[in-house]
Formats: sequence, C-alpha cells, structure tokens
Amino acid sequence: MSYGGDTTDTLGMGDVVSNESLANLLREERRFTPPADLAADANVTAEAYERAKADRLGFWAEQARRLTWATEPTETLDWSNPPFAKWFADGKLNVAYNCVDRHVENGLGDRVALHFEGEPGDTRSLTYAELQREVSQAAHALTELGVQTGDRVAIYLPMITEAVIAMLACARIGAPHSVVFGGFSADALATRIQDADARVIITADGGYRRGKPSALKPAVDEALTRPGTENVRSVLVVRRTGQEVAWTEGRDVWWHEIVDRQPEQHTPEAFDAEHPLFILYTSGTTGKPKGILHTTGGYLTQVSYTHHAVFDLKPESDVFWCTADVGWVTGHSYIVYGPLSNGATEVLYEGTPDTPHQGRWWEIVQKYGVTILYTAPTAIRACMKWGDDIPAKFDLSSLRVLGSVGEPINPEAWIWYRKNIGADTTPVVDTWWQTETGGIMISPLPGVTATKPGSAQVALPGIAATVVDDEANEVANGAGGYLVLTEPWPSMLRTIWGDDQRYLDTYWSRFENRYFAGDGAKKDDDGDIWLLGRVDDVMLVSGHNISTTEVESSLVSHPKVAEAAVVGATDPQTTQAICAFVILRGSAAEDEGLVEELRAHVAKQLGPIAKPKRIMPVAELPKTRSGKIMRRLLRDVAENRALGDVTTLTDSSVMELIQSKLPSAPSED
Ligand code: ATP
Ligand code: MG
Repeated sequence: MSYGGDTTDTLGMGDVVSNESLANLLREERRFTPPADLAADANVTAEAYERAKADRLGFWAEQARRLTWATEPTETLDWSNPPFAKWFADGKLNVAYNCVDRHVENGLGDRVALHFEGEPGDTRSLTYAELQREVSQAAHALTELGVQTGDRVAIYLPMITEAVIAMLACARIGAPHSVVFGGFSADALATRIQDADARVIITADGGYRRGKPSALKPAVDEALTRPGTENVRSVLVVRRTGQEVAWTEGRDVWWHEIVDRQPEQHTPEAFDAEHPLFILYTSGTTGKPKGILHTTGGYLTQVSYTHHAVFDLKPESDVFWCTADVGWVTGHSYIVYGPLSNGATEVLYEGTPDTPHQGRWWEIVQKYGVTILYTAPTAIRACMKWGDDIPAKFDLSSLRVLGSVGEPINPEAWIWYRKNIGADTTPVVDTWWQTETGGIMISPLPGVTATKPGSAQVALPGIAATVVDDEANEVANGAGGYLVLTEPWPSMLRTIWGDDQRYLDTYWSRFENRYFAGDGAKKDDDGDIWLLGRVDDVMLVSGHNISTTEVESSLVSHPKVAEAAVVGATDPQTTQAICAFVILRGSAAEDEGLVEELRAHVAKQLGPIAKPKRIMPVAELPKTRSGKIMRRLLRDVAENRALGDVTTLTDSSVMELIQSKLPSAPSED
C-alpha cells in the first residue's frame, strides 16, 4: 500500500452513503447492557477511564505493578526519540518467571495452567508446577545447544504444549522467539528464518490436522537448504505423531532426548524492560509480511492488564479458551503471555473445529466448563453456516464472556454468537488490535459497556485512539476516516526487525505524530468507533467511498448468506464496481433469482449506489492462515490480473476454483 500516496489521499470515507448505511445497521438500536452480576463484580469499572484520562502514564505505571520486577522501574515512558519508545526502561524482569514461577511461589503450583486437547482426542493437563519444571528443562536444553541471550529461535510447531513451553523457555533465557505458523510452507518458513537470522529451530515430526498426521519436519529440512539459513545450528524436534522423519546427524536433536535429562530447576535471569521478547511476522493480508518487534516490560504489562480487564478474568474460577494459533499475535498475547501472567487456567486445542464433527468446539466447552471464549469472526461465520442445531446439542451454560478478534464482525454474526453460544445473555467483546499493537486497544469492557453489535466501540483505559480525515483533523461524530492512535502505548511495536525506515514509513509518515493503523473507521453519534476494514479495501464508486465491511455485513444479514467478501474492481463508468463473492448457508440453492434477490437486498439496506454489480456464489473464499479474507486476491481476479503474493494463503486451489467460475466479462446492470 502507499502511505500519503495517491490511493489513500482520495479516500475521505466520511460520505453520505456510509453514514446512511451505518444508521441502517444501527436501525434497531440494539444495545446490550452488562448482566447485573457481572457488572457488580467486574475487575474493571468505569472509574478506570477517568483515572487513566487524568494521568495516563501514572495509570500504566500502576498496571506495571501487576508484574513482579527484579528491579522496579522508576521511569514510565521515554518518548524523547519518537516513534522509538522505551517503556519502564530502567526496570528489569523475567517474563517466564512472571508467567510461571511466581504462581508456584504463591502456592498455586497445583492449579492447572493448560488443559491440552489433541485433535485425535488425547489429553494432558499441565499444572503450573509441571509447567515450571518443563520450561526450566527446556531452557537448560536451549543453553546446552548454545543459544545465548539475544539469539533468535524459530518455533514451527503444532498447537501442542511444547509450543507454549518453547516460547517461555526462550523468554526465560532472553532469546527472542520467532514463531512461524505450522501451516506455512517451506518457502514462508525460509524467508522468516533468513529475515530473523535464527540460530535454532524448534519443530515437531508433525501434528494432527483434519483427522490425520500432517508433517512439519520436511518443511524445515527443505527451508534449511535455502541460502541465508546457514546460521541455523540445531533443529530440536518434538515427537508428536511418530511419523518417519529424515535426520541430519549433528544438527537434529529429539526434544525428549535432550530436554528430559535436564535439571528441573533453573534460575531465571532478569532482563531489561526493553530487551527483545519476540519477532512476529504479520499475517500478510495486505502484502509482504513485516517482522514486528516486541519487547519485554511494556508488552507484558499491557497484555496482562488487557486480559484481566477485557475478559474480566477471575483466575480462581474461570476456564479461558482462545482458539487462535500460537503462530498469530492473538496466540502470543492471549494464549501465552496475558493468561499465564495472570495465573489463568486455559484450554489449548490442537485441531480444526470440525474434526471429527462440527460440534467439536462445543464439546470442548462442555467438557472443560469453559467460561470465557475468544475467537474470530471467520470461525463464527463457519458455525453459522453449519447451523444452529449443532451448538444447541451441547451444554454451553458455563460461558460468561465471549470475545472476537481479527476482522470486523458483522452485526449478524455478533448476534448469532451471543444468541447461540452465549445463551442470549453473555457480553460479546469485539476487540480491535494488530500484531503491531501487541495487545487489545479498542474494545468494550464486559462489566461496563452497553455493547453494540458490530462495533469495537471505545479505546481501553490508557489508550488514545481516534478517527481523522485526510488532513489529520479529528472527524465529528457520525463521520468516517482513518483510525489513528494518538499516544504511545506500552505494548506497541518498537520497530520492524532490521528496518527502522519501513517502521517510520509504514506507520508514522501518513500523519504527523500519530500512528496510522491502516484501517478505516467511523464514529457513530455517540462517538463509538466502528471498524470499516482496511483503507486499501475501501471502494470508490461514482464518487462515493463505500466500505467493503458495510456491503459484506449487509449481504451476511440476508438469511441465505453465511459469508461475503466484497471488492471494488476497476470499471470504466463508475471508477470501481462492487464485486461480491458469497458463501451460501447450508441449504440455500444457487440460482439466478438469488443473485438478483441479494443485489436488491443490499440496495434496499444501503442505498442503490452500494448495490453490487456482480455477485458470485462460491464454495470457499481465499483466506490467510489466520482466517482473514484476502480481498486483494479477489480484486486481482475481478480485474483479470495475475495474482499477487499468495504465500500466506491457506489453500491456493481456492483461487483456481474462483477464477474458473468467473465470467470473462462483467454482466450488465
Ligand atoms: P498485514 O499487516 O501483513 O497485511 P494483517 O493486518 O492481517 O496482515 P494482523 O496484525 O494479524 O495482520 O491483523 C490486524 C488487522 O486485523 C487490523 O489492522 C484490522 O484490519 C483487523 N482487525 C483485527 N481485529 C479487528 C476487529 N475487532 N475489528 C475490525 N478489524 C479487526
Ligand atoms: Mg496489518
């Protein structure tokens, strides 16, 4: 994308169509006040907003005291060289100690940290005391393999307990990890190894996916034949599936052979608050992934606080489940660092939601008594497609808070989630944040906010976000523009690994002194924030800016549509024409009449200008491995272009399928 370039400069986004359609989406004035018992006992109350507003840095200094520091920080923020922030710079701490050891020292060694559920049905519950032993042993093993403070370790594992243990072991010895999603190809793995100059790789023979073992080790072997990976000394291999693996003597080491024989005690060293904790590559929805660098003290402070505040976690009684993969930032912040720093008990599930049946997730909720569930709109829409009768077969009454992250959640999906999963009573928190922000930034608080389906609503206490126009002026309520963050925050990225200039260009050059998130947003009449999708995805139709999110939400609100992706394709008459790709719900049939019905539905809801020129029913949509729709590829298809970067795509055959369905010329209106 271009920053301050031509594309973004033409996008005002505050125009009539969007305002009307937003009013439309809000037409029923649906608000849900927090359940009284939750509100009465909430971890965070409305007062936190006031306190943070009066003294933002004081507020964060107070949150930093949630952690156990080896040396307490006396400084909060050093912003003398913006946008290169230092938080709590003179403090020292160990992240693994904060996530594991201190809970054991506090007498909680017998509390379950992780309920692991393998896809084939094997299970394992790991207490904090057991986690402490295994993290300590893994830390010793890494040291034996020559890993030193500052060395990068690549982690390429399935969703098994060793993934969490490996991350904590790296943190324990100050070796920044770079977790690469286990579904990525050898190519994607190789570029990430090269970029981070990793010294050790932690992997497995394979993992279980869709009912069968799926190999991982061959991708590592192949990646390590590529130039630029020569510095990898060792490959540590977890035995998970028992499948055959090729072996390079002197380089490959079985996890159980080296880890199990290590001492069970390990003294954690305290690191500077600004010591690098991890590098994580963004999901690549808009282009080439960026290596986002996060550091220690500020990151842990914010993920710990936000996990406590947004999910209202009561560590003694809650069972938390975040369904994300550890390969994404959501897995880093809300499987590993946030929940474990808070002493939570959580579920870790290896497989897919529909293996061996489409009720697998709900079966897990019932089995472990999950109280807080955090997932993505893409998964919610898949469940909508499979039908309401599936979750209805399970006892989901333990659930008390539901969360969503990753994409704008369509109001229809939000309502479905609350009704069918949350018994029409649990709050749904729609959390906006990014790999770059490290932790949640904009979200309702479950005991405080009257929620609105489809809106992330308000910046959390201590966070400053707003919506601005092309000239960087804050827009009035009811208008749209660009989402920006106006003050530094503790878990902000520190740079793009090895590329300070790209950090400056990407986030800090579009608007002076403001972080440009790349997302379009709108403020409603109450000043609440609605995310409208990526700025690159906004369509320009006959002089009107129309957000893809709004047209998609309108399509999904039709009873026959489960999922929709909308793009603007170049059009000689209207600049761009709206092209929609839809997945139909279970039993809906695809015919000419349906397409017309859907076009009319959108025109009625959003106005004639937003009526899609073309609608194509498809079986699947192109998604990143984290489940986000890759609209740029659909735009390539709609404009008959060669496809852009597809390395982060889940399944490249999806694109062939869609291309083969496409009529060569757009149909006339
Ligand atoms: P890349 O930056 O490489 O294109 P990406 O932006 O998909 O990839 P992530 O950091 O995983 O990588 O995703 C963050 C983005 O996801 C946000 O910028 C936003 O577009 C979207 N997003 C996340 N949560 C929400 C939400 N609650 N509502 C709307 N959009 C969201
Ligand atoms: Mg992004």
